[in-house]
Amino acid sequence: MTELYADIIVDVSHEKLDRPFQYRVPERLRGTLEAGMCVEVPFGNGNRRMKGYVIGMGEECKFDPGRTKDILGIVQNGVGVEDRMIALAGWIRKNYGSTMIQALKTVLPAKQSVKKLEHRTVQRIMGKEEIISLLGESRRKKQVARERLLQELVEQETIPYEWVTGKLGVSAQTVRSLEKSGAVRVVSRMSLRNPVNLGGASSGLKPEESERQRDDGRMMLSPAQQRIIRDVMADFDAGKPGTYLIHGITGSGKTEVYLQIIAETIKRGRQAIMLIPEIALTYQTLLRFYRRFGDRVSVMNSTLSPGEKYDQCQRAKNGEIDVIIGPRSALFTPFPNLGVIVMDEEHEGSYKSESAPKYHARETAEEVARLHGAGLVLGSATPSLEAYFRTQTGEYKLFQLKERLTGGHLPTVYTVDLRQELREGNRSIFSVKLQELLADRLQKKEQSILFLNRRGYAGFISCRSCGHVMKCPHCDVSLSEHKNGRLICHYCGYSEPKVSLCPKCGSRYISGFKAGTQQIEEKLQAMFPGVRTLRMDGDTTKTKGSYEEILSAFANREADVLIGTQMIVKGHDFPGVTLVGVLAADLSLSAGDYRAGERTFQLLTQAVGRAGRGRLPGEAVIQTYQPEHYAIVCAADQDYENFYREEILYRELGDYPPAAHMLAVQIFAREEGRAVELAESLAELVRTKYGITRNGTEDSGESVRVIGPAPAAIGRINDIFRFVFYVKSSKYGKLVEIKDLLEENIEKRQLRTEAVQFDFAV
Ligand code: ADP
Ligand code: ZN
Ligand code: ZN
Repeated sequence: MTELYADIIVDVSHEKLDRPFQYRVPERLRGTLEAGMCVEVPFGNGNRRMKGYVIGMGEECKFDPGRTKDILGIVQNGVGVEDRMIALAGWIRKNYGSTMIQALKTVLPAKQSVKKLEHRTVQRIMGKEEIISLLGESRRKKQVARERLLQELVEQETIPYEWVTGKLGVSAQTVRSLEKSGAVRVVSRMSLRNPVNLGGASSGLKPEESERQRDDGRMMLSPAQQRIIRDVMADFDAGKPGTYLIHGITGSGKTEVYLQIIAETIKRGRQAIMLIPEIALTYQTLLRFYRRFGDRVSVMNSTLSPGEKYDQCQRAKNGEIDVIIGPRSALFTPFPNLGVIVMDEEHEGSYKSESAPKYHARETAEEVARLHGAGLVLGSATPSLEAYFRTQTGEYKLFQLKERLTGGHLPTVYTVDLRQELREGNRSIFSVKLQELLADRLQKKEQSILFLNRRGYAGFISCRSCGHVMKCPHCDVSLSEHKNGRLICHYCGYSEPKVSLCPKCGSRYISGFKAGTQQIEEKLQAMFPGVRTLRMDGDTTKTKGSYEEILSAFANREADVLIGTQMIVKGHDFPGVTLVGVLAADLSLSAGDYRAGERTFQLLTQAVGRAGRGRLPGEAVIQTYQPEHYAIVCAADQDYENFYREEILYRELGDYPPAAHMLAVQIFAREEGRAVELAESLAELVRTKYGITRNGTEDSGESVRVIGPAPAAIGRINDIFRFVFYVKSSKYGKLVEIKDLLEENIEKRQLRTEAVQFDFAV
């Protein structure tokens, strides 16, 4: 019988924890021992008995089998909160590649002395009726900011000051004037605790109140909603919690389902983690959770200091809260008995960490759920290909919510062919249709959004006459214009000279796309003199609070048209908007990476869905050079299933995730030559190990392929050159094996670990 070995982290408080140690699994523990368990092992020369954590197992002995020691035994009931977090760190290190210290820092909050913070709140001191009458007065006087605050105060006695001036966009002056008129007072207290608590100790929402509220206005869940809750809880009660994907457009009642599943989970004495992309973490969403769970819910977000984060973790560990809401890092909240993880907007890019370890919250959530025996509920209007793929393979269970419960209609969408516009002599960046509709809205005093889809834009070259895009013949992704004047593929490194005539139709109109939001604003003002515009992009949102300022100004109808990049299509609802114009749908479509079609579909679907959220029906115009592209056709039809069917074919043909797994190995160096050399040598190491020839992309029989190296999409940042090569395999385990091989080599050559990073696409 082959031997079985376990990777074990020993004594976390020790400096030398940065590597797991291998121990032999004695026969009596086979079949019982699992990753995540706490064990006792002999350690060091004196064979001191120490606690360790199993982070993985395998048949290969990495050291001298004769000198590898045996595990002494499993520590019964030894799996405490901390133990699970350490096991999780081990799993992250193994699956994403990082040092153990980086992984531990990711999952454990830094111990910090908690600084006392001043916590200010706006409290209503008038009765509800008086507030309502003030509200009516503000409405008549069109004091919109004042009206917004009063509206909130009808529902809530106490509102955190930073919410008032932040998300609500109410100025300090307006608050002062309400204070003068005796409607509110601003209360300051030192807070150690819940940093975004909506109330003070005496006036905060209590769960009883929320119960009452529920009885008052409790909605009947639809049969489709009830079925989801029933199925998820039935699996949970049967001891078989699973992973679920709820596919439903905005307003289809997903959040209501999350709330109910969480409530059911809490009833069973377990806790819940609610993941939300930071940008979608609005006051309204939070309020719904507070109404339901009162003081038993807390929030984790990037504005918390390390001390506050630590404090939140302590509260979770001590059983003071049942629910935490936050972005991906909230996944590491140390609940003693977690029952469910909910992940809203599961497709969002922000769920992937951008620094080592580059973990993805979805897969990590699966592991956290496994360690706790908890369920995992994903939700999205435009599911990631990965998640939807897994519903097709049966790994996840799929639920659909098809109806919008908020009223409002799906907008009418017009797709405009920009090639045709050019042929008909229109050289403006606004198509005839868009000009017409803009004029109509300005005349009717309704609002419009112009969306410039710059996401991931990497300088691709396309023909304005026929729409042809210059692509890599090997990778089927767009080539990008490089500073040396050549066109280059960021996957395989293929390059060719720049062209001056379109290879397909011979037109001279072949070039990169130049227009930015500022230019669009100027052209709009030239076309419609007197139009009031607001601009939102990387430049106009650099300073703190400017993002909220622009949003609230637009919500206050201080502008007719909001022009912006992808920032404007997320999160916020503008009931006054009845027209959305997408100026260059192709920018993200040709972004030079295999997810370009998926991102385009998501962004266009979201953008189009911005129109007609209110009373009035909406319209949207998508301007594109590739009107026949399935991502555009399906977004215009708001048809996810068809999009998925087309996109998964492309992924299968190109061996891109989720059809295959892919590991990006990123190499950084100050000198370009050094980066190339390092990248080449590491790629070669993999090729040699799996018997792959230098230029071959053929299957090695081990189902491993190596592509590149090539300069990264952004080839140089802060004078550090960046190169990348890709390894693809149908088996995830192979990629982990290759990452280990490379890590070992890097260590042996004593390269600095920062010089190489691993990025798993799944
Ligand atoms: P999503 O999270 O999918 O955007 P929500 O759960 O926020 O959807 O629901 C959208 C709106 O519809 C909310 O105002 C919510 O209160 C309401 N709603 C949800 N479920 C129902 C229902 N069964 N009956 C009536 N209204 C509902
Ligand atoms: Zn052409
Ligand atoms: Zn290529």
